[in-house]
Amino acid sequence: MQVSRRQLLNGAACVAISASPKVALALQPDRVVAAPARVPARGAAKRHADVIVIGAGVSGLKTARELMARGHSVIVLEARDRTGGRLHTVRLGGRSVERGAGWIHGITGNPVAVFARSKGQPTIVTDWDDVALHGPDGSVYAKADYRIASERVDAHIDAILATPSAPDATLGPVLSAALDADVRAGKLTTRQRQVADWYIEASLKSDFAEELDRIGIRSYGSYKSLPGDDVTLPRGYSAIVDELGKGVDVRLLQRVRAVDYRGSDVVVTTDNGKLTAASVVVTTPLGVLKHGTIAFEPALPAAKTAAMQRLGVGLLNRVTLCFDQPFWPDKAIIGVERDDQRWFFVNATKTSGKPTLVALVAGDQARALEELTDEAAVERALVALRGAYGERVTAPRATLITRWGSDEFSRGSYSADTAHVRPGDRNAFAAPVSERVFFAGEATHDGFHGTVHGAYESGARVAREVSCALARTRRAV
Ligand SMILES: Cc1cc2nc3c(=O)[nH]c(=O)nc-3n(C[C@H](O)[C@H](O)[C@H](O)COP(=O)(O)OP(=O)(O)OC[C@H]3O[C@@H](n4cnc5c(N)ncnc54)[C@H](O)[C@@H]3O)c2cc1C
Repeated sequence: MQVSRRQLLNGAACVAISASPKVALALQPDRVVAAPARVPARGAAKRHADVIVIGAGVSGLKTARELMARGHSVIVLEARDRTGGRLHTVRLGGRSVERGAGWIHGITGNPVAVFARSKGQPTIVTDWDDVALHGPDGSVYAKADYRIASERVDAHIDAILATPSAPDATLGPVLSAALDADVRAGKLTTRQRQVADWYIEASLKSDFAEELDRIGIRSYGSYKSLPGDDVTLPRGYSAIVDELGKGVDVRLLQRVRAVDYRGSDVVVTTDNGKLTAASVVVTTPLGVLKHGTIAFEPALPAAKTAAMQRLGVGLLNRVTLCFDQPFWPDKAIIGVERDDQRWFFVNATKTSGKPTLVALVAGDQARALEELTDEAAVERALVALRGAYGERVTAPRATLITRWGSDEFSRGSYSADTAHVRPGDRNAFAAPVSERVFFAGEATHDGFHGTVHGAYESGARVAREVSCALARTRRAV
């Protein structure tokens, strides 16, 4: 999500916890555990563990750490040649830039912020009100217009969420109608109405990674943002991943093809053979599961697959432009409107240490972007910037375009609250199957979905579920 929002346990604890994979549990203060070193010697890789975790993103690594701290043996299977999944810091043009998540959203009560702090990771606050928004003619919208427009949008959203709506009602048309009515009633000028569209584009659309006319009003209401600042990590999000993965037995380049849970052990098939475990935790992204990449035997229950189909997968891509000198004002956000498209650039200069602009492109614009060559995508961003800064725009020394939609191990950026989503769908997706196949990942979190902290907390939640299930099985034999 982007921008404004944002050892052996006793039996009694197991019953209480496994019944409620929800936000209240997730908000318990995080215990930062030191994972014992259990990495087997090279060449002696075991093929059986108490638990196999599929996916080495934040949720998978957190699951593994928590289970290891409870004394269980864990193998993590990861399809890519790296850990981190949708967290990925790379070097570009002599600086570090993010390909995936960039912010810890809301540092108050945020377990990822706690973890980052415990590892001595510095952070930089983003001031989302520090904006320079340019209209189609290049002129800058007045700050007062931005304040008035953003307040109207926020007030309308509160009112829309507080009013009963039809199950399939979507946010876009209702919000537009309310803002148009403001113009007719003289509460917004035409220019402020334009700025309101800007604010919607920059805050809501990239929050959802989806068009607002597909976002369900009811499902949107389930999203919870944490208080406190949004911060970036100048040492990169991958530094957090590296800390989280310390001591965990992660096997890279292990694409899982099938999970067979018919027998007493679960059999996991990768391109390189079979492994077995008492339990398996699936943390692959919702988009990957919807695509049918992993075959389950027997098939997953119909209620779970129906919930998965209803949950949406949004798309947010980054166009990162590394420059030698800044030609833009010292603002956190630069907005440029060009050819009916609004471009929303984050000034990543402070975080990366060098002049850097990152266009965040969401929804259909992000889908169209994936069809372009890198050169064409960069040129579009530069044309937009020239609309505001003319000849001052220089050629970037390095560029990077993400394509999270066509990434076969992601198939989208994060789950989205589309109009089809029904209450309880995320919990149905999160629910274990046969006490042996468990699910975690951002899309399973009913409240913090689409975020790093949602993924992290889902790992903590599923580790408790698995540990309790293993304890019950051991008591039963
Ligand atoms: C562009 C972008 C910007 C974002 N911005 C923010 C932000 O600013 N703040 C924020 O809080 N969140 C943000 N997010 C969302 C955040 O990155 C995710 O919610 C979070 O990282 C998801 O973690 P996860 O563990 O659930 O999934 P992932 O990180 O996707 O981990 C799942 C792992 O499963 C692996 N896998 C897939 N298929 C297989 C297979 N068949 N076999 C084995 N392994 C497999 C994948 O390679 C991956 O490593 C952003 C995401 C994107 C894409």
